[in-house]
Amino acid sequence: MKNNLNKSHIERYSRQIVLKNVGAIGQIKINNSKVLIVGAGGLGCPIADYLSRAGVGTIGIADFDKVNLSNIHRQNLYDSKDIGKYKVDIVKKKIKLINPFTKIKTYKKKINNKNLNNIIKNFDFIVDGSDNFKTKFILNKYSIKYKKNLIVGAISKFDGHVFTFDFKDKKTPCLRCFYQTEPSDEILNCETEGVMGPIAGIIGSIQANEIIKKILKIGKGLRKNILIIDLLTLNFRKATFKKKKNCICKKY
Ligand SMILES: [Zn+2]
Repeated sequence: MKNNLNKSHIERYSRQIVLKNVGAIGQIKINNSKVLIVGAGGLGCPIADYLSRAGVGTIGIADFDKVNLSNIHRQNLYDSKDIGKYKVDIVKKKIKLINPFTKIKTYKKKINNKNLNNIIKNFDFIVDGSDNFKTKFILNKYSIKYKKNLIVGAISKFDGHVFTFDFKDKKTPCLRCFYQTEPSDEILNCETEGVMGPIAGIIGSIQANEIIKKILKIGKGLRKNILIIDLLTLNFRKATFKKKKNCICKKY
């Protein structure tokens, strides 16, 4: 835990330190924070980019995939010469260039119950950048178990969804409370359904901003709302959902 800022920190973060809601104390909080990002794709790239630029002290990134040509139109930490390389290796390399003060821990694996149970203990804030409900529900389960903050994102076509959960608050609903039945991964399948690049950037950027708000304890999260964005109509709306009486989350 570091409690001061050096000259280089002060200049690097000057545009956010000047914000009343941040200041030197807020910047120190950001520098001491530990954030786990699961998925280094369309959402994970902008999340890792903004959080490292903001000065997050430790970023964990989990992904087992390699960069392929069809990723580049939206996954904005990769370029054409990264094709065939492991995503987490490239993220680590790029973030070191963006901000040498950010420590990166890479997990070249598919997240499951067993490995997340060990990994999650090292982080305070969890961000979902995955493209499937199985992973989202595992993150939901262990974030509840260890009372973490979890920011979930989902994108398809021109549409995006965001959920914010703070599981220290016992009244908060969970991701399972929203999805009463098991949703099909087909709706998140970028290969068959298609996806526009900018929706990944917009949703990932909102997720990064929600994490920074949580670190600083400023503003409001979505809590019992889901944020729904439609870039075709430019409709941004929130829909309320409730904690489900018999939700599986009560057993975690
Ligand atoms: Zn629930």
